[in-house]
Amino acid sequence: MTERIYSTAAYERSMDATVVRTEVDDNRILLDRTVFYPGGGGQPHDVGELWIGDDRLEVVRITADRDGVWHWLEGGMPGAGATVRGNLDWDRRYRMMRTHTAMHAMCGVIWRRYQVPVTGGNMEAGEGRLDFELPDWNSEDKPTVEAELNEELANRLPVEVSFLPRTEADQDPSLIRTKVSLLPADLAEVRVIDIVGLDRQADGGTHVDSTGEVGTISLATVKSKGRGFRRFRFTLDS
Ligand SMILES: [Zn+2]
Repeated sequence: MTERIYSTAAYERSMDATVVRTEVDDNRILLDRTVFYPGGGGQPHDVGELWIGDDRLEVVRITADRDGVWHWLEGGMPGAGATVRGNLDWDRRYRMMRTHTAMHAMCGVIWRRYQVPVTGGNMEAGEGRLDFELPDWNSEDKPTVEAELNEELANRLPVEVSFLPRTEADQDPSLIRTKVSLLPADLAEVRVIDIVGLDRQADGGTHVDSTGEVGTISLATVKSKGRGFRRFRFTLDS
């Protein structure tokens, strides 16, 4: 298994690692440790570069399976046992962290106003979308939701990461509403992201340490997706 540095240290942007295995046909390698996020929970995988000595390889895709985290490369392949240096495309990743944190904050604001859970979401760096089951939406509420969200971001709320035993997570009402029940049954430990006082979710992605780092957002559109579902799209202002 790969040590997933991003899971507890989201601000680490480089790592030294050893190649554990290679899949020559796919041009991918398994590393013993990594800062590269393999994607999931609506957050796309990272990209970046690997150095083997003076040779630079492009990391174009990251995936994960039961064996660990795979780095898909362009421009050659190191062999098993080789030492590599990995660097994230940090500008992109940091925007993902800010965008992802804004998505959680929006979940919190929507829950507080309407008591409805999020049903889906997706993001690119600087752009997020979230779906809610919200039959009673009034379009006049759009500026209010945007203002409430920006106020919470400006409050510089701490964003905390913790790990809960599965049995405890299954009994936590705030986690149940974000569908902890959908997590794989054999998962022994649940990673929890807590925007203190606003939102708490089971989640594998990367986030900033304080909502203040997100800056402000613009709520671009709220569209009906039928049967009472609404799709919220927002962008980071900077
Ligand atoms: Zn998240």
